[in-house]
Amino acid sequence: MSLLTELHEEVANCQDCVLAQGRKNSVPGEGPENAEIVFIGEGPGFHEDQQGRPFVGAAGNLLEELLESIGLRREDVYICNVIKCRAPGNRDPLPEEIEACKKFLDRQVEIISPRMIVTLGRFSMERYFPGAKISQIHGQPRKIGGIIHYPMYHPAAALHQPKWRQVVKDDMSRIPQLLAQSDSIAEVDLPQDTEQLSLF
Ligand code: SF4
Repeated sequence: MSLLTELHEEVANCQDCVLAQGRKNSVPGEGPENAEIVFIGEGPGFHEDQQGRPFVGAAGNLLEELLESIGLRREDVYICNVIKCRAPGNRDPLPEEIEACKKFLDRQVEIISPRMIVTLGRFSMERYFPGAKISQIHGQPRKIGGIIHYPMYHPAAALHQPKWRQVVKDDMSRIPQLLAQSDSIAEVDLPQDTEQLSLF
């Protein structure tokens, strides 16, 4: 059994936070173990919970469209979320739920060892850029530990706010070039406070 499959099974049986109680299915993530890019969203919504798959429904369709625009299919990348079980009524995940689930996301990144992590929305951005504002740092790559970290708005935001659709498209369109020129992206220490982030 592959390390990712093992991890997915652990997620399926996980009872480490209250979200285990309301889920129909856990949603560990999907994609190849050797993916170059990992996309990280917030958490499963209604359709994801029903199907046990990340990014299905309208936001998933838009993500697939965006991937296509840079010559990728969803099967080429690994897609997951900060939390693996649906929060009731799609409320925001609580800090203790994110903390309880962090171990799975960290292991996913460790196993896959991608060249690039794309955070989709503020909850996954917060995981790598604590205290940052997405409006200030979206579309700006930082290399941390040899991996390009690239914050983007969540596709759902582009669905709800058409003005962000072009922003999301533009940010996505830069990914191939960033991968091609990754050597020119400077390594930075992971910022720990907002003051530092404002300098980014
Ligand atoms: S959200 Fe994460 S920590 Fe909570 S039950 Fe699901 S898998 Fe476990």
